[in-house]
Amino acid sequence: MILSLSAKKRFKFIKGCQRRKLELRRQLIYKCAWYGKELKLVNPYKTSQLCSMCGYDDGKKPLNVREWTCPQCGTHHDRDVNAASNIKQLAFGR
Ligand SMILES: [Zn+2]
Repeated sequence: MILSLSAKKRFKFIKGCQRRKLELRRQLIYKCAWYGKELKLVNPYKTSQLCSMCGYDDGKKPLNVREWTCPQCGTHHDRDVNAASNIKQLAFGR
């Protein structure tokens, strides 16, 4: 969808996404403080590339690769479930 937009519209679309992301973050911070909850912010960098079982970095994969097997420990991963597991480990420890 975004590739079919002109450069100007694509720029506006991306800026809109960034603005909404910052607004969501602002509201989460505000709501957590309001309700006395702790908000943990995690950098998602490489969370879909690292094996959540052994930590092996299998490198960048195209988005159409939805599943992969870790060459080090042999664990078969769903890309999204593995990323979620890595994010959970970053937020709460192993
Ligand atoms: Zn592994």
